[in-house]
Amino acid sequence: MTATKTEIDTLVVGAGQAGVAMSEHLTKLGVPHLVLERNRIAERWRTARWDSLVANGPAWHDRFPGLEFNGYGPDDFVPKEKVADYFVQYAEKFEAPIRTGVEVKQVFRNTNRPGFTVETSEGVIQANRIVAATGPFQKPSIPPIAPQDEQITQMHSANYRNPQDLPEGGVLVVGAGSSGVQIADELNRAGKKVYLSVGAHDRPPRSYRNRDFVWWLGVLGEWDAEAMKPGTEHVTIAVTGAHGSKGTVDFRALAAQGINLVGLTENFKEGVATFAPNLVENIARGDDNYFSLLDAADAYIERNGLDLPEEPEARRKLPDPECMTNPILELDLAEAGISTIIWATGFSVDYSWLDVNAFDSNGKPQHQRGVSTEPGVYFIGLPWLSRRGSTFIWGVWHDAKHIADHIATQRKYLEYQDAGQRNA
Ligand SMILES: Cc1cc2nc3c(=O)[nH]c(=O)nc-3n(C[C@H](O)[C@H](O)[C@H](O)COP(=O)(O)OP(=O)(O)OC[C@H]3O[C@@H](n4cnc5c(N)ncnc54)[C@H](O)[C@@H]3O)c2cc1C
Repeated sequence: MTATKTEIDTLVVGAGQAGVAMSEHLTKLGVPHLVLERNRIAERWRTARWDSLVANGPAWHDRFPGLEFNGYGPDDFVPKEKVADYFVQYAEKFEAPIRTGVEVKQVFRNTNRPGFTVETSEGVIQANRIVAATGPFQKPSIPPIAPQDEQITQMHSANYRNPQDLPEGGVLVVGAGSSGVQIADELNRAGKKVYLSVGAHDRPPRSYRNRDFVWWLGVLGEWDAEAMKPGTEHVTIAVTGAHGSKGTVDFRALAAQGINLVGLTENFKEGVATFAPNLVENIARGDDNYFSLLDAADAYIERNGLDLPEEPEARRKLPDPECMTNPILELDLAEAGISTIIWATGFSVDYSWLDVNAFDSNGKPQHQRGVSTEPGVYFIGLPWLSRRGSTFIWGVWHDAKHIADHIATQRKYLEYQDAGQRNA
């Protein structure tokens, strides 16, 4: 999109939604910058997600403030390719200085002079500042318990595309966050025998009393929570946009539709998978989360005298299925006809390219709202960067605003001249 540059004030690495949002705010503040993207704009929305994925939130919410989705109503759940197209269109809107097909290989701080040396696949760039916008979900994470069994096809959810691509036979989906639940549901509807391993999770209602849960989390202040509640570090969230406003994730309903639920996957030995006896507990925890949101929503409606229709059926619980009353604790994969394991077990980050003093001993970025401990280095798009909304489309836009503002302020300090310099 722009000519090759060898010096730039601010270099943004990555042109997903975070990089595009950064570029918009830097542009508004007049900060000279360049965005380098090794693939295409919003690449992960195109090629690191399964085919049928739609946005987890409705179009009125899961977008940037400056542009609506073309061809979709506010309550629609936009397909992933269209989400990627949206970011391309957004970048074009303000002529974002994005160069695609350029990978940042290494960044290190200069010695005895300001700034950073950036080695890229197309040469070396000098930058005063670096914004790492390389994504919250970079490296698919598969736990070490994965069996070393060549008979079984194993893949991470990032590599799953559709049911037709899988070999014949049943599937064990490990992890029941938003990815695992959606993939298990899709496979089950496609006629596959599915086992779904369910850990601790939240499962908000997709919608309640005519409002989507993203609205409830907004008005109840939940998106703005600045830190995870203690003890919830391993609690995932199970939501889907796949069935529109009717798509509340209900594990009992999934079981009634034929999915075999099991507890947390503990290990594999000689073709036998072992599951923790915690399925009932995990589902009860999800129920508590679900009902507490209904309670908070009801209280909000009453407090504010809102005219939203009651929805008593949302409080009805289906009977516990057999897999809850008589939990499966061991499963012989061959006997159960399982040919595939899908690991929907999350992601980790990879900053091996960023050789600066901004990480703790575990390699975790050290920062305050994205402003790192290494002056001039910023992170954007990370989970809980400033609050719960930080990895989401609309949340990252606000974090980018804060970081761009910080950069512009730093530039002002550096522009300052004392009286002697001014009069010289
Ligand atoms: C299955 C799934 C569904 C999701 N659904 C939603 C949703 O519906 N709504 C929502 O708000 N959020 C959703 N998210 C969360 C989040 O919005 C996405 O993960 C989003 O892709 C994050 O955007 P990002 O720009 O921070 O990172 P990414 O989209 O990962 O972008 C980072 C970019 O950096 C590039 N890059 C990385 N390293 C380098 C390098 N060294 N040099 C140059 N370029 C580099 C990559 O190619 C990539 O394009 C979802 C996440 C997942 C996993």
